[in-house]
Amino acid sequence: MLIDTHQRIHNYLRISLTDACNFRCFYCMPEEEVEVTPQSKLMSADEILAIAKTFVSLGVNKIRLTGGEPLVRKDFADIVLSLAKLPVKLTLTTNGVLLNRYTDLLQEAGIHSVNVSLDTLNPYKFLALTKRDQFAQVKQNIDTLINKGFSVKVNVVTLKGINTQEINDFVEWTREAPVHVRFIEFMPFDRNQWNAEKVFTYHQILEVIREQYDCIKLPDAQHDTTKKYMVTGHVGTFAVISTMTAPFCSSCNRLRLTADGKMKNCLFSKTESDLLSAYRRGEDLEPLIRENLALKEKGLGGQLLPDFTQIDTTELANRSMISIGG
Ligand code: SAM
Ligand code: SF4
Repeated sequence: MLIDTHQRIHNYLRISLTDACNFRCFYCMPEEEVEVTPQSKLMSADEILAIAKTFVSLGVNKIRLTGGEPLVRKDFADIVLSLAKLPVKLTLTTNGVLLNRYTDLLQEAGIHSVNVSLDTLNPYKFLALTKRDQFAQVKQNIDTLINKGFSVKVNVVTLKGINTQEINDFVEWTREAPVHVRFIEFMPFDRNQWNAEKVFTYHQILEVIREQYDCIKLPDAQHDTTKKYMVTGHVGTFAVISTMTAPFCSSCNRLRLTADGKMKNCLFSKTESDLLSAYRRGEDLEPLIRENLALKEKGLGGQLLPDFTQIDTTELANRSMISIGG
């Protein structure tokens, strides 16, 4: 088992398949074009499987594939089908634009739950946020997944003054559709234009929703990062991921593997361990994994302050979100 010094059991690994993306969301990707990691420095499909197997042997039983955009990997199908043979619950986070190519594959691999990012229901705003004119394709792909019986969680990064006017449009979507909308508080990463003024908090999100709807709190599972709710009578649900104002670190069970094979014990951790190079040298990964886990801080990588308005982004040592894998 993978237990850290704060007695948290870690059984969930998020693997980034690539730091490349077909979208350009400003809150995720630095404004100046960043160079994507060359193929030779990325984990190959076989290396992903081998490293994932080590984690599974140490107690990991849930794996989420993410990125960058995981579906831009040419060998995505090989990766998914090989990981699907492991004794894990396999899931995926995607921007959704290529999902139409992979729906059958996901079913074949036993993936029934997919997280899709969609920050606006307005095609023009979508273009402004992602720099891609692909709203219709993403929305259609989400609708198709829902119709095929997938459980679909829609991730909405909630940015003050940019999409906060649409919070109740997203909640309205849950009236007829069994969709699970998750509003995510804006988090600071390397060069992502974060400032405290742009954060729309858990409390503010609920206030907006309660002006229009009667909603009830749903129970949260032990390791949930979300605070779940539903509007009375709606078939879908909504939730808030409140990293900035009410973090969930005390029950954290997550580990991360970047596309270039570095282990991170927290989204905000300063430290990384180079598992891929060690694997390529033929070394045993277990000691490295345990050493890295032993360094896990009690909360927010030991970097973010409890009062987010006091955060000085110039003092944060981290990658951009796109190169960590969200
Ligand atoms: N490309 C895929 C996608 O967009 O879903 C997977 C990778 S993306 C980095 C994973 C998640 O992180 C997305 O839901 C995205 O909205 C979220 N995200 C990225 N930057 C963020 C930030 N600064 N604050 C909060 N969430 C962020
Ligand atoms: Fe790409 Fe996802 Fe980041 Fe947007 S949030 S730039 S879709 S990786």
